[in-house]
Amino acid sequence: MNDEIDPAWGSATLGVRAAEPRTGEREHSAALHLTSSFVFDSAAQAAAVFTGQEPGNIYSRFTNPTVHAFERRLAAMEGADSCVATASGMAAIMSMLLALLKAGDHLVASRTLFGSTINLLNNVFSRFGVSATYVDPADIGAWSAAIRPNTKLLFVETPNNPLTDIADIRALADVAHAAGALLAVDNCFLTPVLQKPLRLGADLVIHSATKYLDGQGRCVGGAVVGDAEHVGKDVFGFMRTAGPCMSPFNAWVFLKGLETLGLRMRAHCEAALKLAQWLREQPAIARVYYPGLPDHPQHELAKRQQRGFGGIVAFEVKGGREAAWKMIDAVKMISITANLGDTRTTITHPASTTHGRISAEARQAAGIGESLIRVAVGLEDIEDIIADLARGLDA
Ligand SMILES: *Cc1c(COP(=O)(O)O)cnc(C)c1O
Repeated sequence: MNDEIDPAWGSATLGVRAAEPRTGEREHSAALHLTSSFVFDSAAQAAAVFTGQEPGNIYSRFTNPTVHAFERRLAAMEGADSCVATASGMAAIMSMLLALLKAGDHLVASRTLFGSTINLLNNVFSRFGVSATYVDPADIGAWSAAIRPNTKLLFVETPNNPLTDIADIRALADVAHAAGALLAVDNCFLTPVLQKPLRLGADLVIHSATKYLDGQGRCVGGAVVGDAEHVGKDVFGFMRTAGPCMSPFNAWVFLKGLETLGLRMRAHCEAALKLAQWLREQPAIARVYYPGLPDHPQHELAKRQQRGFGGIVAFEVKGGREAAWKMIDAVKMISITANLGDTRTTITHPASTTHGRISAEARQAAGIGESLIRVAVGLEDIEDIIADLARGLDA
């Protein structure tokens, strides 16, 4: 194992070089350790490893070298001490909540969180006495006002899906810490290449590795990133006991995904900006949401807190659901799917898919109308993406 990580390296270098898991065979590309368990030299050594007196691998639910290499590489990219890889992004959120909260605790979250996250809080955690209040992510006053004596966690996605509102991470960290609570940021949309929440004062970072970290639509996985106490001890301890762990095979795929992350994120950003600028000139488009446009309400904040504007563009067509569906049905190349962070450009109607399960009032409060379309810009030539959408506009 090459343990040399220079924290001064840039994100792309860390993605390629951090935590290279080299075995005695001296392979250049990472080895894949597909094994459920590990052997010991003696009963005494087994006992020493089990009690933590001696370092070593025990069982792949909580110690696997390939999974560990992915964890160390992602932690290095986020500028963190610790990372625990999980079976999915949802498993990461569940593990964080179960490791850090108890019955009677309250959390404040942005109201347009990923749909499954809202369901997890409202339908699962509510049964165990953990309650949640939802607020407008960009309204710092609303976060402060929602704090209660038992508030233990603030949880935000920024940019948020699908309207790309930006929350001020530094200001939210101050609100959380003044209340004795922690701030967790779901960094799925930007990845550490474009945003490092821990450097802005956040305590925990959540990833769905399924999205940009893999970036090629192959595997489901996730991660919780943070300090040695909350993540290295609490979340790791939960993982060791409860087991929603990442498979070594998926970790190997994600490890290779991180090697191209810097390059891919730059390409996603560049194409998304071109698409947003083109959409704005189309008479059939009523409004475009992209933080890279100078008239985006948090454009200045995005410039300050991010190193790029991301690959997600949302827009409203003139004419409601019928017009939106017509446009989606007219595309020939772009994939109609709710996924994002793939090489393939995807197109989604949030009001009837990703946000279809939340109440009409909540949807309206979040500004997700029937005419809204979300495009996650992939890595095809931007001219071809625009030509495909133009076909939809003609329809
Ligand atoms: C996809 C997604 C998740 C959940 O991740 P899975 O890997 O699908 O479980 C969480 N947060 C955001 C912002 C996502 O886009």
